[in-house]
Amino acid sequence: MRRAKILATLGPASNTQKNIESLIKVGLNAVRINMSHGTQEEHAETIKNARAAAKKLDKPLAVLVDLSGPKIRTGLLENAKPVMLENDAEFIITSQDIEGNAQKVSTNFKELPKLVAPKAKILLDDGAIELEVKKVSKTDVVTRVVNGGLLSERKGINLPNTKLPIASLTKKDRVDLEWAMEQSVDYIALSFVRRGEDCAEVKDLIKKLNRRELGRPLLVAKIEKAEAIENLTDILKNTDGVMVARGDLGVETSTELVPVYQKLIIESAVLNDKFVITATQMLQSMIENPRPTRAEASDVANAVWDGTDTVMLSAETATGKYPVEAVATMARIINSAETVKTTKLKRPVKFTEEPTGRTSQALCKAAAICAREILTDKIAVFTESGLMARRLSSVRSGLSTFALTSTDEVRNQLALIWGVEPLCHEEAKTTEAMLKDGEQTLLKAKVVEKGETIVMMAGRLSGLGLSSSVVVWTVGEDVPRK
Ligand code: ATP
Ligand code: MG
Ligand code: MG
Repeated sequence: MRRAKILATLGPASNTQKNIESLIKVGLNAVRINMSHGTQEEHAETIKNARAAAKKLDKPLAVLVDLSGPKIRTGLLENAKPVMLENDAEFIITSQDIEGNAQKVSTNFKELPKLVAPKAKILLDDGAIELEVKKVSKTDVVTRVVNGGLLSERKGINLPNTKLPIASLTKKDRVDLEWAMEQSVDYIALSFVRRGEDCAEVKDLIKKLNRRELGRPLLVAKIEKAEAIENLTDILKNTDGVMVARGDLGVETSTELVPVYQKLIIESAVLNDKFVITATQMLQSMIENPRPTRAEASDVANAVWDGTDTVMLSAETATGKYPVEAVATMARIINSAETVKTTKLKRPVKFTEEPTGRTSQALCKAAAICAREILTDKIAVFTESGLMARRLSSVRSGLSTFALTSTDEVRNQLALIWGVEPLCHEEAKTTEAMLKDGEQTLLKAKVVEKGETIVMMAGRLSGLGLSSSVVVWTVGEDVPRK
């Protein structure tokens, strides 16, 4: 059983039901819809296709909607054709609505000319292209191309060292958030988070708009600003999970700080019981090639060893030539990283930190010790909202965790979480019936055998005797041994 999960961005190269089925077959666990590209109608169709693909294959699949945030972008190009910016050429970014070419492109940020001055540095496409401002008029920013390259439509514009007067949640984001809640997606990602407050505001909105009976869509704070690194503790208190958004993070801070921050973010997230996604350029060369570079394979494996829940693919699956190969390659790299026997790379169960005073931690750690003591590597957890399965995952015990839940929604949401295999079972009226039914579900999924002893546990369950307990259970026997 693979522990780290795979999240892939869907786009023109991958968004049909058939394509998504192929991706699931080679190991896809979750899909990402980026609201910065395409229309709500297109995305609704993509989500429908993803749900249908998962249903057909009877596999859990999480859907994440990534809100654009206040990202400044270049506009559309003539015939949607990428243009080549040559070194030392003049290139204009304008607030006027035009179709761009190799001399001039529009931007969605109309105030840009007011905020930059001659000599300022402007970066395009996650920093791949560098411009220097020569002069500024009311509508145009005239620049010299310092580092040229191919520019396609709607690429990011970064102004290093310029504080922008825009909120994390834009008007467009509010509209997209309401739409995403109607689509009943499993995760909402917020871009350019600066502090805990940004997350608290969106979490409240999610709670208000929630349509689910059990649980709600979970919030992912994208860490991509220097300010967010400074406020990481505050952000972690106010979000369900985080994303190491390496694209913008590398431009907003610097490339050499990305690996440092990646380790810091993953470690802090896991210690604080939050899930974490590592994103951007993981298998970048596979946009064009069927095989990754050795450095990319190393990068994916290292993110796994750092302790990430999930690794993400961006353009590799959205617009790349080899989306299926990219997911399959990622799955193979994770599998091999996880089977390494060196103890140094095996993360220990979290017992060394200060006690937290939380019942969920007590139960999860007890379950992990219990499993080790009785020589099993399997824990089954009854969870209504999915919360206890997430808590158990964040203990990083390394045990196979089977989450028994009664709704498809919770089953899909847990697909993104490290080490958890979510399974659906019937809601039971009595504790006895619940244990028996859970056992049947595990047997049917062929993850346990008759006579095998495993650990079963439950969080707070309404009205049932098993609430907040850890049970040693021999499959196929009548009376549970507590
Ligand atoms: P972000 O900062 O949110 O990651 P991005 O522009 O880097 O934004 P990604 O989601 O990382 O976007 O995807 C990489 C590239 O894939 C995009 O720049 C875009 O060219 C393409 N892409 C992604 N989703 C779509 C889509 N739905 N339709 C068309 N192209 C897409
Ligand atoms: Mg990106
Ligand atoms: Mg980004």
